[in-house]
This record gives sequence, C-alpha cells and structure tokens, in this order.
Amino acid sequence: MAHIHTRKGEFDFTVSGILVHEGRTLLLKHKFLPLWTPPAGHIELDETPEVALYREIKEEAGIDRKDLTLLSTNNDMPQFDRQRSSAVPTPFDIESHPIGDDGHQHIDLGYILESATDSVRPADGESQEFKWFTHDELDLFTNAPISIIKRGQYAIQLINGRKEQ
Ligand SMILES: [Zn+2]
Repeated sequence: MAHIHTRKGEFDFTVSGILVHEGRTLLLKHKFLPLWTPPAGHIELDETPEVALYREIKEEAGIDRKDLTLLSTNNDMPQFDRQRSSAVPTPFDIESHPIGDDGHQHIDLGYILESATDSVRPADGESQEFKWFTHDELDLFTNAPISIIKRGQYAIQLINGRKEQ
C-alpha cells in the first residue's frame, strides 16, 4: 500500500509480523529493492494494528489468520474493565526508522506469531521470493537491516524457550 504521509517530519504507523514455524522465521524479498523483510506494511486509516497485521500476512505470504497464533509478549498489561473501548494487542517491539528519500518515517509495531504452516503463497503482484531462515542462517544473511535479523532471532528463541518449559 502507498505511504500515507510523505512529507519530511511526518510519520506512518506500520506493522511487522515476525512469523515462526518449527524454529525458522519468514523473510520475503522486497518487490523492488535488494532487501528482505518479514510481512509488513502500513496501518491504513481504517485499520487497527491487528487488522493490518493479518491483512499484510495474508497478502504477502498467503497465510490465513486461522493458521497463526499471536504471541502475548506483555503479560504485565493491565486487564481493565472496558466499556466502549477494547485492548489492542501489545507489540513485542516498537521502532521508528526513516523511509526512502522524502523524509517521512515509520513507527513500526512488531508482533510475533507462530505459524502452523510453512506453505507460503504470496498474492499476485507481491514478491514471490521468500525463505524460512534458521537462527544461524540469519547470522550469515546480509540483505536485511540488523534490526530485522535480531527481531527474527529473538522470535525463534522466544518460541523455542516457551516450548522447552
Ligand atoms: Zn510510509
């Protein structure tokens, strides 16, 4: 989807879905750039982060919500009574980074999801190049920003740790 704000000093909110399946995490090659990222994209003006997250994963990886388990990574979030409001799942990580040449920035909400499938079917028009990476493969991979590598490794370790308990 297109950027929402494009002027210097403006921010778009985005989501990233760090998917893990059997000790591997999914990265997809960017449509145009020599850059690999997890399924990610803008939170459109009519979307909650959760809605944007599942839409982007479906578009870019073809994985349905029914095959995904969103990890709760903040057990300290208070459980208030809410009347006309609803809790939004808390990301495991939030970062901002500059995008492109126009000076706008992204505030990215990172979520970790366990995927029941490794079958990836990107929609038409999306990048068709992807790979599930192990922790060690990420150490050697240079076509992604360091925070993407570290987020993927963190997600693999977190899910491994929960399984060993
Ligand atoms: Zn943007």
